[in-house]
Amino acid sequence: HAEKKTIADHLRKYESLLTLTPQRMRMIVHAFEDTLDIGLQKDGQIVPMIPTFVFGWPSGKEVGEYLALDLGGTNLRVCLVTLQGQGKFQVTQTKYRLTEEQKQDEGQKLLDFCAECLDSFIRDTLGRTEEDGLLPLGFTFSYPCSQDKIDHGVLIRWTKGFGAPNIEGRDVAAMFMDSLKRFNVPAELTALINDTTGTLIASNYVDPHTKIAVIFGTGCNAAYMENAGHIPKIDSIGLPKDQGMAINCEWGAFDSFDHQHLPRTKYDIIIDESSNKPGEQSFEKMIAGLYLGEIFRLIICELIDAGDLFLGQNTYKLEKAYAFDTAFLSLMESDITDELLTVIGVFTHFFGVETTLEERQFFKKLAVLIGTRSARLSACGIAAIVSKKGYLDEGCAVGADGSLYNKYPNFANRVHAALVDIFGEKGKNIVTHHAEDGSGVGSAIIAAMTKARK
Ligand code: ADP
Repeated sequence: HAEKKTIADHLRKYESLLTLTPQRMRMIVHAFEDTLDIGLQKDGQIVPMIPTFVFGWPSGKEVGEYLALDLGGTNLRVCLVTLQGQGKFQVTQTKYRLTEEQKQDEGQKLLDFCAECLDSFIRDTLGRTEEDGLLPLGFTFSYPCSQDKIDHGVLIRWTKGFGAPNIEGRDVAAMFMDSLKRFNVPAELTALINDTTGTLIASNYVDPHTKIAVIFGTGCNAAYMENAGHIPKIDSIGLPKDQGMAINCEWGAFDSFDHQHLPRTKYDIIIDESSNKPGEQSFEKMIAGLYLGEIFRLIICELIDAGDLFLGQNTYKLEKAYAFDTAFLSLMESDITDELLTVIGVFTHFFGVETTLEERQFFKKLAVLIGTRSARLSACGIAAIVSKKGYLDEGCAVGADGSLYNKYPNFANRVHAALVDIFGEKGKNIVTHHAEDGSGVGSAIIAAMTKARK
């Protein structure tokens, strides 16, 4: 019979499954660039490269009071943003947690809930009424929508675990205006935007060196500014060729369905097949906050099943899908004690199992492997945009946001190291930084830009 595998054997196996060499990354970058091009040429592509009808960079002179509503993957956030010009602003905000039921509830009901929260924010927090007039509102709705103007957007498909029926294929902006009207909310929907687009515009407002924005939260996505002349699929609109238009890449869909380019492991495949959207969002499922903890958990469960971990202990808490939050990977990676005391805490406190030091060292290394793969894959997407736009020599800043970027130790360093692996020394010209609040401030700036064009 086969000899029992040691933890070192397991670690070697996972290292080889989860490590991306520079050469492999360069292959992914090439395929990614082609995919971005195809998305700009034709409608209905897997990576849809959505024209956002946000025209060009902000001037920095945008001023005034705007509401921003952000329906993210986890929270609903309502803000009043006061733009003061010259890259300055103030924000007042309130957050509401979304329940799992709301994410699966009737589409219109979900939007009604947003309208109600907005209404109570305007009346109770701001102390305003109809008599004070309608405040312009930017609605950050971070799911792929096809737009043909800024205050319109047909939901292509839900992502990030949402599944509210009767909203896919419909104009979310119109449905939301309907909710605003029925609840008598003193706000006027000016722009429907994606968080990536908002982040792009807000980061550029503060630092004009920013040319790309990436979100690393529940999901993963990016936006950048393209010239209309390079977006063949909107030729018929007749924009000047050098007119800038922000593109919401929806790059989380890269490699969906045919799975030709990404080195998916069996854990990625399990996540995909047991998700509510099998086949879709392949890139995102290997990178984003919603999934990294689950990849870790699946590996742990594999070892439990093989009888190589927690023998004789009750492991039911670990066996529950999605029980292992990505925040735990962050915690384990931040643990610098010799005994790995935080790792002990995670496993005893949350999962009721005892660990040996050797096991804890293995868990931490596994977290490093999963977190590093996520950062390196993300770098491939960034590199594809950089290379497509020719930003490598002059360099550019990349505004990044989301809990994974903001809280995962070393995430940014790993992205930067991967960019050097891909491009050589010049990769150092591309620097990510924590972005300005895109879904709040960005959405307000876009609402202001939109009003100025009217
Ligand atoms: P959203 O994308 O939903 O607007 P966030 O940017 O906060 O919101 O992302 C939430 C995701 O980030 C969740 O999937 C969660 O597991 C993950 N997350 C939360 N805290 C951390 C952390 N400390 N380290 C890494 N990931 C985290």
